[in-house]
Amino acid sequence: MAKIQTPQAVRGTQDMFGETEERFAHVVATFERVRRLYGFKGLQLPVIEPTAVFSRSLGEATDVVSKEMYSFEDRGGDSITLRPEFTAGIARAYLTNGWQQFAPMKLSVHGPLFRYERPQKGRYRQFHQIDAEIIGAAEPSADVELLVMADQLLKELGINDGVTLQLNTLGDTPSRDAWRAALVGYFNDHKGALSEDSLARLEKNPLRILDSKDPKDRPIADAAPVIDDYLSGEAQDFFGAVTAGLDAAGVAWTRNAALVRGLDYYRHTAFEFVTDRLGAQGTVLGGGRYDGLIENLGGPATPAVGWAAGIERLGMLIDAVPTQQIEAMIVLENDAGLGHAFALLRQLRQAGISADMIATGSPKKRYDKAVKQSPAAILRVNEDGYYGMSGEGNDDRLKSILQSLA
Ligand code: ATP
Ligand code: MG
Repeated sequence: MAKIQTPQAVRGTQDMFGETEERFAHVVATFERVRRLYGFKGLQLPVIEPTAVFSRSLGEATDVVSKEMYSFEDRGGDSITLRPEFTAGIARAYLTNGWQQFAPMKLSVHGPLFRYERPQKGRYRQFHQIDAEIIGAAEPSADVELLVMADQLLKELGINDGVTLQLNTLGDTPSRDAWRAALVGYFNDHKGALSEDSLARLEKNPLRILDSKDPKDRPIADAAPVIDDYLSGEAQDFFGAVTAGLDAAGVAWTRNAALVRGLDYYRHTAFEFVTDRLGAQGTVLGGGRYDGLIENLGGPATPAVGWAAGIERLGMLIDAVPTQQIEAMIVLENDAGLGHAFALLRQLRQAGISADMIATGSPKKRYDKAVKQSPAAILRVNEDGYYGMSGEGNDDRLKSILQSLA
């Protein structure tokens, strides 16, 4: 008989277990706690969307749309895409469900995303994000609120040290268009010195040349026209209000005039929290204002701002999370007591005490096995029921259960 080939996991996906999974779960739990502190409502959204949701809102010229999407035709002939990011799907849901009536909405979501990228440390084809958005708010205070929340989240995860908030403004549409035209003119004058990648960007997405990592591009990018010379008075005031709000809230930031972000829809505020601890994958959280996106999807002009952060990258940065431990471990010393053990387990768990039992293997070794797992309390059970405890067991709930058995 031919040997059966064991199927492999899809390249760029991860099976998470043990510490990796605990770090992941800790990031999500912390996010869920913090977003509630700020009054952000949760969302559950489809993983699949019509391809147009992304191609229209992100723009055909972006890396994500032009080369990273997992798109396929379903059996009905519709073009479907596994979501590569959250914002476009949230905007689609906002329009589909007529959520305009609730504006401004503070929304949050987390879950898997898919991009066909070259897998490496901190970069996967299925990865996960936490995401927060405020839709229908035009004021700079919405940008401040989101940044203060991101800052608190990173602090609560214990990774604010060594992480810097880099902030930029891309101006309003007239400012951004004037700046873009100046950049195209300037880069055209320096065409000969640009890298191959940047020559392609010049055609499709010239702003991206500014954050090119190619050493060949750096001197030209560094000397390029800056947005500051093209900002309208309104755009200047907006950025001033954002920075004043951050200062008042005690959030540290630095200006990075080359920060443009990959997606076409950004206006005004653009930001990234960046670390030097993850090599090339240094951005842990990024976002900005995307006032034009909902219009791109055929909706009414709707101001909005948001951010997303990679859960895996945050998980890599946090200190080890205490591993999950059982509070009360039952050692069944005699198999005739199994019924008593089941009853006690059920009582403990219903009282909110995590509990498990060791009831297999040589009765002599069961106690040692329990000790190895270092539970707070070890409860001994024999054919007559519970008869003794070792370990801490100071928990009031546990005490009262054991007293009721005595
Ligand atoms: P990068 O420049 O690293 O490709 P990006 O600009 O494509 O990032 P965004 O689309 O802004 O990233 O996504 C926000 C965050 O999601 C990133 O800062 C990162 O933490 C995470 N992220 C993005 N792509 C991946 C990936 N392929 N694998 C793991 N995490 C990712
Ligand atoms: Mg990317």
